[in-house]
Amino acid sequence: MELPIKYRLRNGWIEIRMDADEHWHQYRKTRSKHSTKLIPITQSFGKDFWYNEQWFYKDYVGGLRGHNGIDLEAPTGTCLYAPENGTITAVDDNSYGKKIRLKSRQYEHVFGHLAEWNVAIGNKVKAGQLIGWCNNTGKFTTGSHLHWGVRPIKYDKDNGYSGYVDHREFLDMTVYKLPYRDGMFIQRTDVKNGGHGELYEVVDGLLAYYDSKKIGTRIAIVDRVLRLMKEGIEPKSLTSINEKEFKKFKHLII
Ligand SMILES: [Zn+2]
Repeated sequence: MELPIKYRLRNGWIEIRMDADEHWHQYRKTRSKHSTKLIPITQSFGKDFWYNEQWFYKDYVGGLRGHNGIDLEAPTGTCLYAPENGTITAVDDNSYGKKIRLKSRQYEHVFGHLAEWNVAIGNKVKAGQLIGWCNNTGKFTTGSHLHWGVRPIKYDKDNGYSGYVDHREFLDMTVYKLPYRDGMFIQRTDVKNGGHGELYEVVDGLLAYYDSKKIGTRIAIVDRVLRLMKEGIEPKSLTSINEKEFKKFKHLII
């Protein structure tokens, strides 16, 4: 199963799915080869800060009103996946360190401080494709992280950030959110096979596959609901969704 989107935004956190070995075990029981990890934003968009008797972006980097991207905590070797379909327009090494530019139909993305990439200029990449690995290369960096900048194709070069914008809002819009609360059970209706399809539980806004084969679907749900009640949590319901509706949420399966 290939997941089309590798990140989600939630309350100031970006959630990135990655294949790093150390997270594999944690999520193994969800039967997904991908895992999920919450990655903190270590520096948000916009603000400048005082550094060595001067403003960091205005004076030291030069001419910027503040940070023109977001920084994500990314240990060396963290996989970087393309967030959108697009074309690689630059792979080079400068003050951002090793960096990649990716142009989609609407936006230009820049990813900085990388260890390495496995793409070349002109390559067409698909959303979810592995394009590089994170590190700490470049001039203005104090630890391994990913600098991720986004600007619209038609950008305002005089906005004080070289046209880059706070893209958290865009990220939020690009991702389909589940209209279901945590703890709810979602069952796919499978018309071809007599009505009932796979069962998922909503966990942290994601769909976790619920293996009910061993104990039987109904018993599993009753058991879970009773357990929640014991813990003082209100029992959540079971909802069926059809194939068309389910397709919208496929990328949220863990
Ligand atoms: Zn940065």
